Parts: sequence; C-alpha cells; structure tokens
Amino acid sequence: MATDTHPLSLPPDLIRLGAAPAGKEAAIREAAQLLIAAGCIDPAYADSMIRRETVANTFLGHGVAIPHGMVDDRNLVRRNGIAILQVPDGVVWNDGQTARLVVAIAAQSDAHIAILRRLTRLMQDEARLNALFTTGDTADLVAALSDESAAPATPATEAGDLAESFEWVVDYPTGLHARPAAAWVEAARSASGRVRVRHGQETADGKTLVALLQLGLRPGDRIAVSADGPDARAVLNRLRATITGLSAREKADAAAAARKAKAVVQGWTPPVSAGREMPVVAGIGASPGLAIGPVHVMPKADLTVPDRPVPLLDGGNRLHEALNLTRQQLKALADDTARRLGPAEAGIFAAQAELLNDTDVITLACQLMVEGHGPGWSWNEAVERSAVRLAANPNPVLAGRAADLRDVGRRVLTRIDPDLRSGSIRDLPGTPCILVADDLSPSDTAALDMGRVIGLATAQGGPTSHTAILARTLGLPAMVAGGGALTELANGTTAILDGQSGRLYLDPTEADLAAAHGWIEEQRIKKAQQEERRSLPARTRDGHTVEIGANVNRPDQVAMALSQGGEGVGLMRTEFLFLERGDAPSEEEQYETYRAMLEALDGRPLIVRALDIGGDKQVPHLHLPHEENPFLGVRGARLLLRHPELLEPQLRALYRAAKNAKPGALLIMFPMITTLREIETLRAVCDRIRAELEAPAVPLGIMVEVPAAAIQADVLARHVDFFSIGTNDLTQYALAIDRQHPELAAEADSLHPSVLRLIRLTVEGAEKHGRWVGVCGGIAGDPFGAALLAGLGVRELSMTPRDIPGVKDKLRGSDLAGLRALAQRALDCESSDEVRALEGEAS
Ligand code: PEP
Ligand code: MG
Repeated sequence: MATDTHPLSLPPDLIRLGAAPAGKEAAIREAAQLLIAAGCIDPAYADSMIRRETVANTFLGHGVAIPHGMVDDRNLVRRNGIAILQVPDGVVWNDGQTARLVVAIAAQSDAHIAILRRLTRLMQDEARLNALFTTGDTADLVAALSDESAAPATPATEAGDLAESFEWVVDYPTGLHARPAAAWVEAARSASGRVRVRHGQETADGKTLVALLQLGLRPGDRIAVSADGPDARAVLNRLRATITGLSAREKADAAAAARKAKAVVQGWTPPVSAGREMPVVAGIGASPGLAIGPVHVMPKADLTVPDRPVPLLDGGNRLHEALNLTRQQLKALADDTARRLGPAEAGIFAAQAELLNDTDVITLACQLMVEGHGPGWSWNEAVERSAVRLAANPNPVLAGRAADLRDVGRRVLTRIDPDLRSGSIRDLPGTPCILVADDLSPSDTAALDMGRVIGLATAQGGPTSHTAILARTLGLPAMVAGGGALTELANGTTAILDGQSGRLYLDPTEADLAAAHGWIEEQRIKKAQQEERRSLPARTRDGHTVEIGANVNRPDQVAMALSQGGEGVGLMRTEFLFLERGDAPSEEEQYETYRAMLEALDGRPLIVRALDIGGDKQVPHLHLPHEENPFLGVRGARLLLRHPELLEPQLRALYRAAKNAKPGALLIMFPMITTLREIETLRAVCDRIRAELEAPAVPLGIMVEVPAAAIQADVLARHVDFFSIGTNDLTQYALAIDRQHPELAAEADSLHPSVLRLIRLTVEGAEKHGRWVGVCGGIAGDPFGAALLAGLGVRELSMTPRDIPGVKDKLRGSDLAGLRALAQRALDCESSDEVRALEGEAS
C-alpha cells in the first residue's frame, strides 16, 4: 500500500465546523469519514479508531481528543493526515471529559508529532483554544494548528471565580488530604463545564486531584468553589453535599487517631549501664512495638530513567496501556487490602488510582513525549515535577502525598519499561530483619513478607504517611524520619527498634539485648492474656457454638488470622492469585499455594472458593470480552463453566492438595451460583477430575449471592454439602445497588430486612436437607450483624481476621434464645434503620 512520510498538513476540507455528533463513537466516525473522503485511510481504520478507545484514552485534556487507530492497523493508513471535527456543544469522551475539538490522526510513522506539539502548546493558551471551539472560520483552526510560535510558552492563569459559586471554611482537622480530595474530584468530574476551587489568589481545577492538593488547604481556610456550564448549579449542590458530608467522617477519624495515639504505651527504656550509652538514631515513632535483629539497608532506589525515544504513537500506546494496567492493579490491591486490612487502608490505593486520572501529569508526560523524549523518561519527569511541588507543601499530610504520587508513578513506570523494576524489596535476606530504607512506598509496605521483616525504619516519611498507617495495621514496629544516617548503616548491624519512641538503638550489649528481650516477653504475656479470650470458642452463654473462620487469601496471612482467634479459613478468594500478577498461575503454582494454605492451617478447615472473576474483579491479562454490565454478566460460576481452561487446572490443583490433606480439611465452593444446572455441571466436572486423580471426596458447597439461589435454597441444598452466603453480593443484587456505587453504596445495608429474609430462607432450605449455612460477606465481621446471623440459624461466620475478637466477644456474651428472638424482630422490621436500632438489645 502506498504511503508517504510527508508532514501533516491541514487542508480546509479536512475540517468540519459546528458538528453535533450524538456521542463519542459518532464523533470518531464523522472525523474518520473526513479522512476516508480525503483518501488518507481505509474505511476499516475507523473501526480501529473505535477499538482503540476501549484500551486507551485519547482525550488529551482541555477539550481536545486525538482519536487514532490501533498500532497494528497502521497498514490501513494510506497517507498521513489529520481531520478536525469542531463540536461547539461538546461530546462526552469519558466520564467528566468533554471534547470540543476532535483531532483524528492518521499517521504511519511519527509524522504527527508536529501536530501534537502544536496541540499541546495550544492547550496552554486557554483563551485561544476556547475560541477555536466555536469559531466559524476554518482559517482560525488552520492557523492555530500550523503556527508553531503562536502559543505562549507559559500557561495562562486566572484567579477569579466561575459563574456560580459558594464559599466554605475547611473544617477537616487534617486539612484537605488525598482521600477526601479524591471524593471532591469524583463529584466534580461529572460537570460538563469547569469546576474551580480558589483559596485567596490561588486556584485549582476541581477535577484534578494534584491541583487540589497543591492548594495545601488547612483547617480554617476559606475557599470559594465555583463552576460554569449549564449544570453549574446542580454540580455545586452535589459538591457542597460531598464536601460538607465528609466533615463528620474526617473529624471522627481524627478523634479516633488521637485516641489511639494516647492509648499506646510510652515505649522501651534501655538499661543504664555504667559508662556506656547505646548509639541511637532518633526519628519519629510510627507504629509501636520492639523489634530486635540485624538491619537490612535497602539500596536507594535508582531513579535514573534512561531517555529512550520511540515513535510518538508507540510512546502514547505504552503510556496509555501502562496507565490502564496500573489502574486495574491498584483496584485489585485496594480490594485485597479492604478484605485483609479494612476499607480505610484500601482507600489509600483508591486515592492513588485517582492520582492516575490527573490530566495535568498525563498531559505533561504527553508534552514531553511530543518534544521527543521517551515514554518512560517523560512519565517519570512529569511525576517528579508534580511530586516536588507537592512535597514543598507546608502541610505535612499533604507533602506526604508526594510519596503516593511517586509510588503510583513507579508502578506505571515499570509497566512502561519492565527493566526499571527495582528488585530491592524482593531481595531480602533469608533471616528476619529490620528493613531500613530511605523511604518505603505504601505498595511495598502492603506487600511486605511479614515472615522476613520484623520492623521498618525509614530516613524520610512522616507518622501520617500511608506507609506508617499500613505498618500500624500490620502490627509492624516502625519509625520514620530517621534522617540520612540510617541509610549509612552497615548491613547486618544488630539493632533494637522501638516503634513507639521512634528510636533505633545500635550495637546493643548482651545486657541491652537481655533487657529488650525481657520487655518483649512482658508485652507478649500481656498480649497473650488478651489473646486468650480470642482463642476461646464463640460459645453463647447457653452453650451454642458458632464456628469462626477467617477470610484469608495467602498462606503467609494464616498465622495472623489464627492469632486473632480464627478457627480455620472460611473463604479463600482465589481470584487474587490471578489479580495480583500479570499472568495466570499454572496448575502447579496453584497446587503449591493450596498445599501451603493447608499446611499453615495444620488440619483446620480451609474453604477455597473457585475463581470468582468478573463483576468488580476484572483480570486484564485474561482478555475477556468487555461487558456493559459485568455484575449481571459472565461472572463467577458462569465464567468457570465457559472457560474449562480456568476451571479444570484449579480443580486439579485442589484435588491434588486434598490427597495429602487431613480428611475433610479442604472444602471447595463455587461463586455466583444461580441455577441447579450450574451445580450439576460443576459437580460432574469435579467427579471426573477426582476420579482421574484418584483423590478423596471433598465437600462441595456454593456461595449464596444471587437472590434466586436463596429463594430456591431448599432445592439446591439437596445437591450441595453446604452454603456460604456472600452477603456483599446478595445485598447488591437484592437491593439493586452496585456495591461500589459512590453515591448509593452506603445504602446497601446487609441488615436490610429483605436481605435478612433471604438469609432466613437459605437457612430453612438448608435445614430441610441437614446442610449447614455460613456467611462470609462483610456483615459477618460486624458484632451486631454476627449476633443476628447466629439468631437466624447461621452456623459458621468467616470474616477479616481483625474483626474476629469483637465478634467472638459479642457471641460469648449472648444467649441463643435471645438472639433468635432478636432475629425474629429484625425480620419483622420495615427498614434497615429499624433493624440497626435493635442493636442495644442484642446481648
Ligand atoms: C460476598 O459477596 O459477600 C463475598 C464474600 O464475595 P466477594 O466479596 O468476594 O464478592
Ligand atoms: Mg461475592
């Protein structure tokens, strides 16, 4: 096919003014039509342009989108060209992104760099760009996009408010930090016009997280929030509700943090030995506890990112794909962290994902690529420039978000260029160590192998950093802000880390070590006394016992779950074996994981849930078809039945693990079951694989998550060995509320009487056939919820490990007869509020 390498020109017939396409796809097709008519592209390239939108975002920012085809379809480009569709009323490109200039690019090589460079320059001249959105003269567009020197080099700034506004005085005790700012951005995103937040003379785009954080808002600051566009008033109402609605939670969080800070003990005092004081590095205590061991100094991450220019389209592709993959990865990390540590900790990664939507950082990276730099270098540079500005913020909480930006930036970087992966955190010594680092990212902290790291000491960071929060949740002693002296330490130096006082004592004598060990022992005894209560069974005062399991996905989390009082694992979500990595684990790798789980549980029960992929758990590397409504689509068992290449290796791995396990210790359950037919088919596959492997029978159960399964429980119970109710999904399907919906999710209360009635139906259906029913959704970990469930006849509860002590205490203080009466009253309630009002009567 004939091609050319001429630079892109813009004849007027490739421009259409005043277009009003019905949507994004129509806009792309209309622009593509201009290119087709001009002989620039094969008609099939239009489809390629549409396809590209499903894998990458071509919105460049500031009302400009640059649709172009997939890299593999470049052969469909006949000659280089661009076409411009001017859409004065705008066309929604993505949520919160409206395009007014659609610049369709057909380029075989990097010939369109010139046009992108002009576009990115134009973007810095808001007034001129805005004029192009409505001009009636194609010559204006030709001039603007042909004139290299037209745009100013520095961005224009405006300090005023937009058409509609309201004022608010910041009353968040820690100022505007990333988590609430992410909620503001979420609320502002849907606005069709602009949203601006002004503090004094400084303004920020309300749709941009980094810009908001850079305002450095502190408690007491008066701000003006303004918007323009046809929906300005509605947007501001929504924003005001979001902003003020968060105040109570921010205050409660701050009060809880203050209480926690007061509650902890003062730390360890080293013995005074004659004539010698232990050398000490002083920092700030970030997570209490004493750790004794050799230090392992993590080499300072080498941030030299080579500048390897590639054709701009390739660079753009690499960046977009890296951003998409990182978003998916953060989503998986947030889900896993929510399940393992709790929703507040998971919010760290949700906020990090929001940083990825920052069009300023992305646009800057694009601009640098347009200038001829490589994608990795450009991205890193854009992240660094933003992080440096954030770090300069006088508010330490906000300055700390620079670490989050760098963390998330690093994730993207290693996706752009896998060679830049820094392996240091994975190169830990075999023996447990105190990890010393210049700084540690939240994701590295969340992924730490607790068997090998007994404490953390960082040169930088603050006690409110996300790393510190995670360390506290993990129960890992930690100090931060120890200064540069820390990273100068020799590897292997013996040290005592006191995470309460924030001190790292070096080269202790035998007497010092003995004193520290003595102190640890004292603390251990105290803790053991507290834990003793956790290890008691959840037996009510009148002798009824409820089994208590933990929701755990990895073998290294089992010990912690048991120490919290878990009596087994009631839910192992195996999709995390797939979500946390870039490819599917083999049968052998899965077998190894299940075997290790069983070994860690030492004969206690392990309920493994077969892959529950789909819905909120998308696995990008499986390349499954996109679904408009994935929660109602091919998810869980439906997916397994359509993909024997996923189901069968998993079942083989499980049955192989069963062969060496204590009889009955392993149980298998299937997610998202709706019909009896699904059960019969899955059972047949299990039977075949079991026979092939000569493996023992394994109890087979199902998750009850779909109302149909609850209603037909009496039928299904005949064909399964047990039920485990997934109240998270059962609630979303019963109440028709997406469990992740930003506005509605709070109303998706699993204690809604209709959900309780479905649970009751499930229990009744199971009892008819002598089957037991468990609950492994979030409500099982709520003491009041657990009490109600026990009253409804649920025999097993499985939850996040740290919820176990509270649930056990609650059940141990109750009578079954009282719980049954309570459950009956709850079933008769008219609303979830009424059910919750019964809480005082639950014991
Ligand atoms: C549930 O739906 O309650 C459940 C436990 O499954 P998941 O949260 O993994 O969907
Ligand atoms: Mg579920």
